[in-house]
Amino acid sequence: MTDFGGAIRQSTEYEIAILGIPYDAKSSFMRGAAHGPYAIRHTSSSLMGNEFTESGLSLEAETVMVDLGDVDVSGDFDRLSDRILEAIRAILKKNAAPIVLGGDHSITYPLVKAMAEKYRPLDILHFDAHPDLYDSLYEDRYSHGCCFARIMEDGLVQNLVQVGIRAASKPQRLNAAKYGTRWVEMKDVRDPLVLEFRNPLYISFDMDALDPAFAPGVSHLEAGGLTSRQALSIIQSVKARVVGADVVELNPTRDPLSITAAAAVKVVKEVAGRIVEGRKSK
Ligand code: MN
Ligand code: MN
Repeated sequence: MTDFGGAIRQSTEYEIAILGIPYDAKSSFMRGAAHGPYAIRHTSSSLMGNEFTESGLSLEAETVMVDLGDVDVSGDFDRLSDRILEAIRAILKKNAAPIVLGGDHSITYPLVKAMAEKYRPLDILHFDAHPDLYDSLYEDRYSHGCCFARIMEDGLVQNLVQVGIRAASKPQRLNAAKYGTRWVEMKDVRDPLVLEFRNPLYISFDMDALDPAFAPGVSHLEAGGLTSRQALSIIQSVKARVVGADVVELNPTRDPLSITAAAAVKVVKEVAGRIVEGRKSK
């Protein structure tokens, strides 16, 4: 079902853990992201691709990567948050790094909560068309449009850099200023974009950061986004120790050719490569 080009192994000891969260109840517009984990795994088959990153690192030979399956998403968001905390704590206890497949973006709040228990101070590199900084969206403080407001409010993160922004409303601009987040807005993106972080880095990748031409399988189509190449280059060049990531908002119901799922697989592999490099240089 899933092997990320043959990288996935069966092992109780591991360095990188894939974890699915098939949940989209906090999506403000459209459901479908709950099928993201299945689509990413399905598309990651070694029959289609291989286990190497672009830098030539073998995710099969040079690390131990496992797939822990999906988190139980039954019940309400509070219960889900508790299960996410538990699952991430277990991974971090093994001194491993989680790569989480969403799901809508609401899951990033509990994910970062768990990450911040171990890594403090923690920094985040967030790819998205949207800042997800609403205090509340349609009267829901835990909407996928609010996750970074919750994260900043709780002081979980020291530096939040948001790349790809091109659909920012006034309240979100005000909140970005209030919380001191740094935006690299799409209109200002120049290549190469080399970012540097002092603290351990968590990467949160909303697939709608990519231009819809490169990633049509998302709920919120917003033209004028990053090319796949730009996003990968930013990940490959970021100066930081990457300790975890999520890839969210893939909506397979709008992705008939699996173009977006394939882009998500690529992001997962390149992020995994950066995690491995970070562990080696430690
Ligand atoms: Mn988002
Ligand atoms: Mn988005």
